[in-house]
Amino acid sequence: MVERKFKTVYDVICPFCGTLCDDLEVDVNIGSQEVIEIRNACQIGTAKFYSSNPSKHRYEKPLVRKDGELVEVSWDEAIDKTADILVNATRPLLYGFSSTECEAQGKGVELAEILGSILDNTASVCHGPTLLAEQDVGVPSSTLGEYKNRADLVIFWGSNPVHAHPRHLGRYSEFVRGYFKKDGRNDRFVVVIDPRNTHTAQIADLYIQVNPNEDYELINGIRALLRGVEPDEEEIAGVPLEDIKKLVEIIKGCNYGVIFFGMGLTQSLAHHRNIDTAICLTRELNDHTKFLITPMRGHYNVSGANTVFTWNTGYAYSIDFSRGYPRYNPGEFSSVDLLMRDEIDASLIVASDPASNFPAESVKNMFKYPLIAIEPHETPTSAFADVVLPPAIAGIECEGTAYRMDHVPLRLRKVKDAPGECLTDLEILERIIEKVKEKIGE
Ligand code: SF4
Repeated sequence: MVERKFKTVYDVICPFCGTLCDDLEVDVNIGSQEVIEIRNACQIGTAKFYSSNPSKHRYEKPLVRKDGELVEVSWDEAIDKTADILVNATRPLLYGFSSTECEAQGKGVELAEILGSILDNTASVCHGPTLLAEQDVGVPSSTLGEYKNRADLVIFWGSNPVHAHPRHLGRYSEFVRGYFKKDGRNDRFVVVIDPRNTHTAQIADLYIQVNPNEDYELINGIRALLRGVEPDEEEIAGVPLEDIKKLVEIIKGCNYGVIFFGMGLTQSLAHHRNIDTAICLTRELNDHTKFLITPMRGHYNVSGANTVFTWNTGYAYSIDFSRGYPRYNPGEFSSVDLLMRDEIDASLIVASDPASNFPAESVKNMFKYPLIAIEPHETPTSAFADVVLPPAIAGIECEGTAYRMDHVPLRLRKVKDAPGECLTDLEILERIIEKVKEKIGE
């Protein structure tokens, strides 16, 4: 009998973007525990699975900086150093958490409470405004499965899923055949509203080019027309009034519509007020037809981070434990703002790379003080860390729970063993908590 050299794991969930595709098949070399083939994933999902294989970029042992160089140490030494840094800081920051599983996120909350630290996740630089708006006005929303089966009008506003969520279109929103939409793409009318003529716009039925930072004006123009108000202007936000009227008629004529919005809406001027008014528009559209709205979440478990933080503290992100109880104030307790004001004197970054996307001044301030990275790969953040703690990659090398962009929780699968001495994020955070408690005498 020929000995099988690889195994195939089916129904694997992709831990890359908030679409959380759950139909991947992954071939793993049984001996070397390397991923050798992935089926059904898009390019970016595929790249994440291959990146789990040992390489010069993958950390396999804990590292501590000594005489300017990161050197391999034992887990005991690395955890001891980590706990020392955190206990001796007066205003430590715990940031990231959106690319790990919910059980580890819960430990992050516990550690932040013990330390009296700042606790933040990547929503503070992506869909934080969405959460603020939802807290203000609620949100009429549904699941991706419902959209797949029912939506005949799909609007992508300030999002470009062809690049950011490539299989969203094929699984849920555009090309897919649904229970009541048996003819797939032919049964759906797709609109893209974006300042840029993106690849998603190029395959839409209607592209509306809005002026940068004028989404708020356009949404309210649509709301005015829906109420029968005739605007004085001939164009709103760069869009001719006639085109807006046509869009309003298309929207009113659909049976089931959905707006998927991205960071083009959350991070343009007006921020959460854009989302606030987009939600109000959605609600008002239900006087005419069925309409819903859903954010296109980026990191695969940023919805989970918001959910876990909320059920533990009452707040989804930008939380301050310095008074012994959680306080919430985005703008004051958000990571970027705190770092810009140089208020943070130690950082623990979990499954994130703020050095790649935070403003330069805030990154400079972060690098001035002790930095710990729980990170599987070398990144601009981990390259400057004082301690690097290598984790198993959740959803590839360990199980866990993750929330899809529509808040459906799914169970991540383990397909292979982690290389070297990697521990899971959960185990690492548990060991840090234990050591911190020991040092502060709890
Ligand atoms: S669309 Fe997102 S979840 Fe699906 S395979 Fe691509 S990266 Fe993974």
